[in-house]
Amino acid sequence: MMIDKFFFFVKKSINEYYSSMSQIIHAQPVKKKITKELKLQCKELAEKGVIPFLKVVLVGQNPASVIYTNSKKKYCEKIGAKCEIVTLDENISETSFLQKMNEINQDSDVDGCIIQLPLPPQLKHLNVGLLVDQKKDVDGFHPENLYAVLSNQIDDDHFVSCTPKGIITLLQENHIELKGKHVVIIGRSMIVGKPLAMLFTNLNATVTLCHTKTENLKKFTQSADIIVCATGAFKFFDRSYLNSNRNQILVDVGVSSDAEGHVCGDVNFDDVVDHVAAITPVPGGVGPMTIVSLTQNLLQASKKRLSL
Ligand code: NAP
Repeated sequence: MMIDKFFFFVKKSINEYYSSMSQIIHAQPVKKKITKELKLQCKELAEKGVIPFLKVVLVGQNPASVIYTNSKKKYCEKIGAKCEIVTLDENISETSFLQKMNEINQDSDVDGCIIQLPLPPQLKHLNVGLLVDQKKDVDGFHPENLYAVLSNQIDDDHFVSCTPKGIITLLQENHIELKGKHVVIIGRSMIVGKPLAMLFTNLNATVTLCHTKTENLKKFTQSADIIVCATGAFKFFDRSYLNSNRNQILVDVGVSSDAEGHVCGDVNFDDVVDHVAAITPVPGGVGPMTIVSLTQNLLQASKKRLSL
C-alpha cells in the first residue's frame, strides 16, 4: 500500500514537472519536412525541363552577408535548385548597379532574385522594393507583393516576405492557434514587423505593433498571448516583460552576437525559458525558416514559368 502510494506521487510529480516545462520550438523538424516536399517539387520541375534558378546579388564582402548568401546557395542546391551569387564591387556606381539589376530582371532563365542587405552607402537611398521585378521578387519586398499581403489577396502570382512567412509556418506547423489571439510584435520594419502584423491580422489574430516610442511596452507584452521580438536589441527581453501565467508564446527574430561572437537573439533565453509556454531559440528558431520560405517562393516562381 505504502509502495503504491509512493509510486503514485512519483508519477504525479513527473507528470507535473513535464507539463510545466516550456516547449522549445526548433525549426529543424519543420525544415526537414518542408525540405522533403521541396526536393520532390524540384524533381517534378526538372522532369518538365525546369531547374529553379535564384540569383543573389551581393554588393561588397560584408562578412555576415557572405555567410547568409552562402547558406542560401547551399540550401537551394540541397533541394535541387540552382543559385548564383552575383558578387559586385563594394564601390559600384548607382548606374552600373541599376544596369546589372535590369539585366537580371530581363533574364528569362532567372526565376527569382534577391538583393542581400545592407547595401553600401552610395546605394542606400534606392528603394529596394522596386529594384527586383515583381515576378522575380522572392523576398516579397515589391509594393505589389506587399499590397497582396495587406489586402489578404495572397495567390500564386504574389510572394510573401520570407521571415514573416517563416514565422507563421513555424507556429502553424507546431499547431499554435492564432485565431482570436492577442499578438504583440516588437519592431515595425518593412521586412519583419509590418508584414508580419498583416499576416497575423489576416489569420484573425488581434495585433499590437510596438516600437521604440511605445509607452509602457510591458503593459502590452504582459497582456499578449503571443509575443514576437524583432528589434535587434541584444537580449533585452527578460522575464519582467512576461505575465506570471506561464502560458505565453515567445518568438525571437533578433540576430546579434555577444562579445565571444556567439549568435544571440533579442530574448534573454535562460531568464525567460521557464516562464513561457513555448519559445523559439536563437539560433535554430526563426532563422532557418527564412531560408525555407525563400526557397518555397522560388519554386512558386518556377512553377509560374512553366505555366506561362
Ligand atoms: P530594424 O529595421 O532595425 O527594425 C528594428 C525595429 O525594432 C524598429 O521598429 C525599432 O523601433 C524597434 N526596436 C529596436 N529596439 C527596440 C526596443 N528596445 N524596444 C522596442 N522597439 C525596439 O530591424 P529588422 O530588419 O526588422 O530586424 C530586426 C532583428 O531581426 C535584427 O536583429 C535582424 O538581424 C533580425 N532578423 C532576423 C531574420 C532571420 O531570418 N532570423 C530576418 C530578418 C531580420 P523604431 O521603429 O522606433 O526605431
